[in-house]
Amino acid sequence: MVSSQGSALGEQVSARAARPPESGPAAAEAVDPSPAKPARKSATKAATKAATSRKTPTAGKSAAGKTEVRKPASGKSETGKPAGKAAVKPAGRGAESRLAMVRRARRINRELADVYYYAHPELDFENPFQLLVATVLSAQTTDLRVNQTTPALFAAYPTPEDMAAAPPEELEELIRPTGFFRNKTKSLIGLSTALRDRFDGEVPGRLEDLVSLPGVGRKTAFVVLGNAFGVPGLTVDTHFGRLVRRWGLTEQEDPDRVEAEIAEIIPKREWTMFSHRTIFHGRRMCHARKPACGVCPIAPLCPSYGVGETDEEKARKLLKYEMGGQPGQRLKPPPDYPGPAAPPLAGR
Ligand code: SF4
Repeated sequence: MVSSQGSALGEQVSARAARPPESGPAAAEAVDPSPAKPARKSATKAATKAATSRKTPTAGKSAAGKTEVRKPASGKSETGKPAGKAAVKPAGRGAESRLAMVRRARRINRELADVYYYAHPELDFENPFQLLVATVLSAQTTDLRVNQTTPALFAAYPTPEDMAAAPPEELEELIRPTGFFRNKTKSLIGLSTALRDRFDGEVPGRLEDLVSLPGVGRKTAFVVLGNAFGVPGLTVDTHFGRLVRRWGLTEQEDPDRVEAEIAEIIPKREWTMFSHRTIFHGRRMCHARKPACGVCPIAPLCPSYGVGETDEEKARKLLKYEMGGQPGQRLKPPPDYPGPAAPPLAGR
């Protein structure tokens, strides 16, 4: 069932979506590296509009109740300047200077901050140890499945000392729903033992210490650092990598190289939230197989517009989680989350 809250969100997003620079003069203007001031004005205008929309759920609709879609004027760019002939290639595909690409990336971040003002880690946790365990469990499965699994796990083994001493077969049974449960059990017992023996039972707040724990790589470490210790970090998961490549911000496939290149583009203080916003967008709209380009609020900034559904009505049906009026991934979402909480695992 689609909730009215979720529908309203989807409509707000739709109302924010503009027709993208498919080709020709409008495309040239949208990716023109020179007009820094118009770009900022446009971003501010969009931010104000989004903030207004949040205060008034019906904002983004016309008096007749129909969703308004911002359309570029014929022969003019979204900034209102006459379209030029100089740059004709899409954003991030060679015609764009590095400076323009960096500005575009930061505009994407600002636009996503308006849309996903409630972006957050989608794993339920109450302390750094729970976040570390949940992140290890999230490999090769959804955050939803992890969130449905961890309540029983943390009730049985609340501390590193408890988990280090857990009988492996009991731990395996508890985390079985997350898949790869034998390997994950080894990682959980290994990292809990290391925390108990080397870190006084506390999760360390330094990257080099975290990656020394069994089963903990840079991605897991940055999730923990960013969300449990307030240390800025980029989380390069499958969604993040796919989206920054679609946006033309990097061509790298290796997560460590993606991280290094994006770190040069996005200010450090924004790393954690940029990661959340990007992952939110990837899960809800810019899907791997069928992105909902027709309702995408950053379409004018995206050189990959058109890889997915461009029809507005069809695209809206592709939206997921709160954007589509469905439950989110967290059983205990933050208070400002606009969608319903996820249900517990059946039978538990
Ligand atoms: S590929 Fe489509 S859905 Fe993804 S960011 Fe670009 S325009 Fe939006």
